[in-house]
Amino acid sequence: MPTIISGKEVADKIKLEIAEEVSKLKDETGRTPHLAAILVGNDGASKTYVNAKVKACEVVGFRSTLVALEKDVSEVHLLNEIDKLNNDDDLDGYIVQLPLPKHINEQKITEAINPSKDVDGFHPTSLGKMILGLPTFLPATPLGVTEMLKHHNIPTEGKHCVVIGRSHIVGSPMSILMSQNTYPGNCTVTITHSRTQNLKEITLQADILIVALGKPEFVTAEMVKEGATVIDVGIHRIEDSSKKSGFRLVGDVKFDEVAPKCSYISPVPGGVGPMTIVSLLKNTLLAAKNKN
Ligand code: NAD
Repeated sequence: MPTIISGKEVADKIKLEIAEEVSKLKDETGRTPHLAAILVGNDGASKTYVNAKVKACEVVGFRSTLVALEKDVSEVHLLNEIDKLNNDDDLDGYIVQLPLPKHINEQKITEAINPSKDVDGFHPTSLGKMILGLPTFLPATPLGVTEMLKHHNIPTEGKHCVVIGRSHIVGSPMSILMSQNTYPGNCTVTITHSRTQNLKEITLQADILIVALGKPEFVTAEMVKEGATVIDVGIHRIEDSSKKSGFRLVGDVKFDEVAPKCSYISPVPGGVGPMTIVSLLKNTLLAAKNKN
């Protein structure tokens, strides 16, 4: 049977470490790390994510601020809010919860964030530094995945890592981190996407398969090599009348049939999700330390 990589367990351990560092920082400098989140509109999923981030801040002893804006807020107004946060000396880092409404240019907003406060790691400066292997804020989800591999000492050197998905926030940075000359890394990486042909032939070669394409239970047992490590980034609400909530959460991997073939596998929920949040906290702590 596979080892289940519990993101929740790893995240709880990292939160304890962060909380210790926070109290040390407070003792030494009198400052408490402070994270802000801008939320535009009322989208249920975005609200849930932002609330979880704010709650996680409380757990580790950070201060947090939520800037909630109406869904029809103008781009100029949002840029003004960003400018305020960029110039707020009391603030270590902030995020703008994506996706934004269609009338707002996400790239323009991302580029307006001061890179020294870019704790989501989406600014071109952060991504450029990441590619060069320089210290920077790494995108939270890929950083979380590397922490999961590290926690279980999963060997990566010389392994074939296949990433499904090439988004700017997950697949692309993930492929870069897995190829870097460090641990976890030193993989031979194949990045696949919507135009990839014969996907199954490629995934069957994966020692490590990282799945982030956003399609519920897309990866089936016949696509996975015996003994592989499978990390499922996807998260979807599927209607389920047998549940009190009316839905259940599934990933991009058909867990029940894939798990028996794996040496390690991350579940959904309780896998990559909690790691994404804890990585944001790690980046905020780094921002606070950089300031001192
Ligand atoms: P996205 O829609 O931006 O990108 C999806 C990628 O998958 C694209 O690059 C596309 O080319 C590729 N793709 C689509 N169909 C494909 C196919 N048939 N074969 C191969 N590649 C294909 O998605 P994203 O933002 O990267 O998110 C992916 C999933 O991860 C979503 O379910 C999202 O909700 C989830 N997610 C979870 C977390 C978390 O913290 N757990 C964080 C970010 C994203």
